[in-house]
Amino acid sequence: MPQRAHRLMVKRVLVVEDNPDNRILITDVLASLQYEVLVAVDGEEGLTKAEAEIPDLILMDLSLPRMDGWAATQKIKANDTLSHIPIIALTAHAMVGDREKALSAGCDDYVSKPIDLRELASKLAHFLG
Ligand code: MN
Repeated sequence: MPQRAHRLMVKRVLVVEDNPDNRILITDVLASLQYEVLVAVDGEEGLTKAEAEIPDLILMDLSLPRMDGWAATQKIKANDTLSHIPIIALTAHAMVGDREKALSAGCDDYVSKPIDLRELASKLAHFLG
């Protein structure tokens, strides 16, 4: 496949995660799956980068400084330019209430922490093809 065509097909994933260890883990996994990775360290930066970059998918931690993941998701899903972007919430402690809040905030799916990397890969493939 020509290099140019390949580059156009690379899917871009925005990771919004304040925990550096999780960020590195997720970034490494995404890179190994041939996704291009964009990173934000809090909810406000996540919203700003979503607006600037229009990624193909967002992985959204929920517990974040400055603006939490629920609020960032609501703002993204309320924006006509961004609302089509699938958002997968990263929910801590498998909290049932967190999941329900994430889905009602507009998240399309969720992955519980500690992250099962095969589950994450399969959900990414489901939304990104
Ligand atoms: Mn967090």
